[in-house]
Amino acid sequence: MKIKYRFAFTWSEARASQLRALGLKVQPPADPRPEVGGIAVSFALEGAPGWSEACSLIRSWNGATSVTTEFTAAEISEAAHCAFQVVHASGYPQPERDFLYLEQAYDLSARCPKCGEGAVQMAPFRIKKTLKWGRNAFLKLNWVEEACFMQTSVWSEHLRPLGIGALPVEDTKGSLLDEVVQIDLGPVAPLCMGELEGVRCEKCGRERYQWHDRGFFPSIKNPPDVPIFRSSQRFGVEHQSANAMIVSATVANAIRAAGLRGVELWPCAPAG
Ligand SMILES: [Zn+2]
Repeated sequence: MKIKYRFAFTWSEARASQLRALGLKVQPPADPRPEVGGIAVSFALEGAPGWSEACSLIRSWNGATSVTTEFTAAEISEAAHCAFQVVHASGYPQPERDFLYLEQAYDLSARCPKCGEGAVQMAPFRIKKTLKWGRNAFLKLNWVEEACFMQTSVWSEHLRPLGIGALPVEDTKGSLLDEVVQIDLGPVAPLCMGELEGVRCEKCGRERYQWHDRGFFPSIKNPPDVPIFRSSQRFGVEHQSANAMIVSATVANAIRAAGLRGVELWPCAPAG
């Protein structure tokens, strides 16, 4: 596994030279305009020469650092479970005006107005038929982190035989769509969060965690014997939180073998 840092900072030739002297590659802004600087990007692997010095410099320049983890094929294929993050987004839940989709799809009686937690999906999502799939098998709607969609034909061929169910999806008028399904994410199970600390909403007291970005995903306390399930913990930010979606090794390896796109698989740490 490699933990990768991506740095973004206001460009100047002097800053770029400092990073290059530490052994880092620097991508200047596409269109450098000396009067405004523009944003340059650089990368480093955690623990590599120059990495910790680069982190300090980026902080001192008020730059932004984001972290991600690259796993080897073996680390993914040998994990008993993988978190499953949909990365291809297109379109919006309907009706999108004034966020009216919330009332259409959810029971909002227990929803917190501050953090948005507590809404329970009660009805099919409604979508426009113009969603852009590209070459992706998986899709999420903008604004909705907790629902995963597939084209019915792709789900039938690859995931239905593994025991993964589907929920109906409707068009903007409420008629059932044949060509798209929402994946049934199955039961809920707690993860072992160890030292990780969540943020508690000051209004409702519900807890959420930052989206996991470094190292193995947390392990599962007592993994249910099902192909797909959700964490009881919620991850994300206010109004954009979701249960982590977790798949069995069988499902993860089927997704990789078929080359299904639009999702990233994060191996979970071994239990216990
Ligand atoms: Zn709240």
